[in-house]
Amino acid sequence: VPITTARKLVLLGESAVGKSSIVLQFVKKQFDEWRESTIGAAFLTQTVPVKSGNFIWDTAGQERYKSLAPMYYRSAHAAVVAFDITSSASFEKARSWIAELQRQADPGIVIVLAGNKLDLVSQRQVSTADAEQFAREEGLLYFEVSAKTAEGIEEMFQTVAEKMPIE
Ligand code: GDP
Ligand code: MG
Repeated sequence: VPITTARKLVLLGESAVGKSSIVLQFVKKQFDEWRESTIGAAFLTQTVPVKSGNFIWDTAGQERYKSLAPMYYRSAHAAVVAFDITSSASFEKARSWIAELQRQADPGIVIVLAGNKLDLVSQRQVSTADAEQFAREEGLLYFEVSAKTAEGIEEMFQTVAEKMPIE
């Protein structure tokens, strides 16, 4: 019987950038305009099984759970740090998450920066050039995606899956 080692992927980023929506689009090919942002008492809000034993942990990401974050990403093989391209503040937040991961996470972790809400390009506050430059400087992959239209989502997870370390 082949043994499959589960791969854990965490999603981090400011509240309302679309983390849960990205997961929903990837796993169920659905988008819900009116879904409520993740709330709850626990930092670890959702575990979504994907193919071949891999799984995604979605998170509330609220500031008040920040101290619990290391427990959450410590054993992760990959982290998708999401921001909303229509929110400069969410980009700043993503940068701080990345700095924290680089300090504290497993050195082999695959980190991906994801600019979500690409369908709202007319309200863009974060330019592709700025995000790309930051990603290049930090040695990260950068994807622009839309959980609403599904643009870029499959490609992003496919690339992450290919880059996850196999032990
Ligand atoms: P989370 O708090 O990071 O998990 O964010 P949610 O997935 O709960 O999304 C927050 C809000 O943004 C919801 O109203 C979503 O419908 C909306 N949203 C998420 N992704 C997109 C997207 O790609 N495009 C647009 N237009 N809205 C999005
Ligand atoms: Mg959520």
